[in-house]
Amino acid sequence: MSDATIALVTGANKGIGYEIARQLGQTGAEVLLGARDLGRGEAAASTLRAEGLTVRPVRLDVTDAATIEAAAKWIEQEYGRLDVLVNNAGTVHEWGLDPTTLPISVLRSTFETNVFGVVAVTNAMLPLLRRAPAARIVNMSSSLGSLARSSDPTSDQHHVPLLAYNSSKAALNRITVQYAAVLEGTPIKVNSACPGFCATDMNGHRGHRTPAQGAAIVVRLATLPPDGPTGGFFEDDGQVPW
Ligand code: NDP
Repeated sequence: MSDATIALVTGANKGIGYEIARQLGQTGAEVLLGARDLGRGEAAASTLRAEGLTVRPVRLDVTDAATIEAAAKWIEQEYGRLDVLVNNAGTVHEWGLDPTTLPISVLRSTFETNVFGVVAVTNAMLPLLRRAPAARIVNMSSSLGSLARSSDPTSDQHHVPLLAYNSSKAALNRITVQYAAVLEGTPIKVNSACPGFCATDMNGHRGHRTPAQGAAIVVRLATLPPDGPTGGFFEDDGQVPW
């Protein structure tokens, strides 16, 4: 059994998740690098290990119940608990599509990963998170899921025409609030994070921030002290309005 903080990051073989894994590793955590393709996960983990970090890959497709169950079982056997869960894996399938004619299948596949996947992974890991002294759950959201911002016609978010993606992140925010309420009275804290617009494969590297900059708020929420917030939505500059 390890005394280090044990942290699982989903979708961590590239992009912001990879940087979250690196920055959590730099805090001294033992990082379980979730990847739906084990080869990509092993490659990413070995690069981080070469930097001196403690990182192990774990096969985890958030839409595949069998891999979620197997990952939970493996973590239970190896560590008996989980201190940090970062639900980072996410997807967008609708660039260039008109929201008013968007096939329902696109909504379904987006929600499978960004919403149902988060619930499935969280529920599978909760018994392990409850065994940690002070577990932290961070859900990777987006300001595009902020109803307060996106309903303001002068905001950057208002006209972004990603029906499935934006609504999946709004749903995810409600899930954050729900879990924080359910876990009230326990040491577990649950928050949503917005990384800002970061250059990754997801957006054809159009973001103006680096993945490392996007990872920072997530790592802060994953390492909150006991008097830190729960049930909130945060970016670098502070709270994001729901
Ligand atoms: P990337 O496309 O670079 O990375 C996405 C990661 O999620 C990849 O590792 C991908 O794996 C993984 N993934 C996708 N589907 C699954 C699945 N079913 N099971 C497990 N892993 C999966 O995107 P980003 O790094 O930009 O995005 C990370 C998170 O940040 C997402 O939740 C995104 O919505 C959020 N976000 C990103 C912003 C940005 O500007 N980039 C802004 C706001 C939020 P694989 O390599 O196998 O495809």
